[in-house]
Amino acid sequence: MSNNFTGKQADVVVLGAGIVGVSAAYTARQRGLSVILVDRREPGSETSYGNAGILSSGSISPLNNPSLWSALPKYLTNRHAALRWNPGWSIRNADWVIRFLANATASRLRPRATALHGLIGASLKLHREWIVKAEAAQRIRETGWLKAWRSDAVGAAKQEQALLTEYGIESRLLDRQAISALEPSILPVYKVGLLHTQTASVDSPGAVVKAYARMFTGSGGEIRQSEIKAIVPDGEGWRVVLGDGEIRARDVVVALGPWSADLLRPLGYRVPLAYERGYHREFKPNPARSLQRPIHDAEGSFLMSPMENGIRVTSGVELTDRDAPSSFAQLDQVVPLARGVVEFGEAVGDPWRGARPTLPDSLPMIGPAPRHAGLWLAFGNQHIGFTTGPATGTAIAAMIGGTAPPFDATPFAPSRYL
Ligand SMILES: Cc1cc2nc3c(=O)[nH]c(=O)nc-3n(C[C@H](O)[C@H](O)[C@H](O)COP(=O)(O)OP(=O)(O)OC[C@H]3O[C@@H](n4cnc5c(N)ncnc54)[C@H](O)[C@@H]3O)c2cc1C
Repeated sequence: MSNNFTGKQADVVVLGAGIVGVSAAYTARQRGLSVILVDRREPGSETSYGNAGILSSGSISPLNNPSLWSALPKYLTNRHAALRWNPGWSIRNADWVIRFLANATASRLRPRATALHGLIGASLKLHREWIVKAEAAQRIRETGWLKAWRSDAVGAAKQEQALLTEYGIESRLLDRQAISALEPSILPVYKVGLLHTQTASVDSPGAVVKAYARMFTGSGGEIRQSEIKAIVPDGEGWRVVLGDGEIRARDVVVALGPWSADLLRPLGYRVPLAYERGYHREFKPNPARSLQRPIHDAEGSFLMSPMENGIRVTSGVELTDRDAPSSFAQLDQVVPLARGVVEFGEAVGDPWRGARPTLPDSLPMIGPAPRHAGLWLAFGNQHIGFTTGPATGTAIAAMIGGTAPPFDATPFAPSRYL
């Protein structure tokens, strides 16, 4: 490192203050390292803000599982609420699409489910511990998550339950009466339900990330609000170029969620990251008709979560460029369906858009960049990044410290793609 450097210095710089980056920063700090966490916005303001707030014990089967094939014909119409896709994007990203579909086989399901099960288990343990430590325990609800079908889909529900049972994840199959007993405020539109009993949820994922960030600063960590322009190898370590200065560090963690590939490209890494965009809109609840837990309408392809500011309706997947203009078609399609389940009032605020960062095998990258010492990758947590952020970050801090992560991180090695 040259001697005329006037910027800041730390052992570790973590790029991105979403749930993944905040978790990596906090656990690296717990290991006694000096840590600076950088984001252009406040912690938990992007994808980690707008999600459905589910801490899911059972999301071990990625979207590209064998059942995707039977659903494809209806998705090809490009009118389904579950999936909209931009034909131009699909042609330009045919390689990603082919690799994503190639993973939707029975033989590729088990290894990925096993990997995700380990990651999820470790992460839920951390969330339950940290949310108390962060004095945000009032935000977590241990009421489970209900997936519900309007049709007589007992077979589909039983099939999902069988996979969960195989991994020791508890769930309860419900009929119409049992659903009404569980959620007395909803209309009896669902014939079949699967209650994920070990799943929790929070009433404001953004506030939870902010509380974890306060835990980080409370333990001596530093947050810098600035645009990150580049990461440059610098002697034994790294120089992080910011809009308003520079930071030097021995280790750099890239936890930029859907923006992670951008800063890695100049270093020669072409990350096959796609953006499963999603939307939410919140509505004023009727206090006499409250939801007890998030509900996933399996056939309507939307989620309803009771949040601090109202009922948050989240949409399915839109495959297109990360920064393409918003299209509210999917939200417009599902909001009337949601109103037919539970009574709620007018919209609160504007619709929100985010992007689930997804690699072709739907597993995140957690580990070292293959060709650069001290560069760590922690992104690609797709639909379950709010759940899996704490263990993703903890694994990176463990690897920086030369110790083993709290779960088998081998399937998440960045070298599988880079
Ligand atoms: C509609 C929807 C519903 C979802 N529901 C759930 C759910 O219920 N449960 C669940 O577990 N997961 C859910 N997810 C997924 C989850 O939200 C994401 O996987 C997770 O939030 C990703 O976290 P992250 O820390 O990787 O990224 P982010 O939270 O996006 O953080 C990345 C950060 O990097 C910063 N950044 C990027 N580029 C720069 C730059 N150049 N300079 C400075 N800062 C920069 C951004 O400002 C941002 O704060 C959902 C996602 C969506 C879209």
